[in-house]
Amino acid sequence: MIRTVSAQHVWDALKAVPDPEIPVVSIVDMGMVRDVVVESGRVQVTFTPTFSGCPALHVIRQSIEDAVQDLGVRDVEVLSTLTPPWTTDWITPAARERLREYGIAPPGPADEGGLIQLDTEPVRCPRCGSLDVRLTASFGPTLCKRLHVCNACKEPFESFKSV
Ligand SMILES: [Zn+2]
Repeated sequence: MIRTVSAQHVWDALKAVPDPEIPVVSIVDMGMVRDVVVESGRVQVTFTPTFSGCPALHVIRQSIEDAVQDLGVRDVEVLSTLTPPWTTDWITPAARERLREYGIAPPGPADEGGLIQLDTEPVRCPRCGSLDVRLTASFGPTLCKRLHVCNACKEPFESFKSV
């Protein structure tokens, strides 16, 4: 007997799918999963990749498929959409905390401070919290992140580009 899978089951399953770049957060935490539709036993999941420069798109697609099939669903369709584009604002507060613990400075909320910030949003050292940091490279190991050095604790760290 096949149990009925609801959209909530699918969301819960996707919460266990790690971000391929940052395994401490899930693709749901990152705000990548945009829509789940369950209709007469078929499941359709729509996701928005984070940064277009990030690799592993097919890895995410496959992981979503696997997670849904693990629920006993045969008919899974995974769609990706770039409209609207992914924004760092979709990262959940809990995931921001885990990013910080992981050593990656999470992006600040877009409305923080109420000022329009262009490319100079403050980056805080995830280790000591200092704002006295300097950018060492525009691109980290992937296009998603930037490399900084903290002037206070001298530690290098990565930050997310706010988009
Ligand atoms: Zn520091």
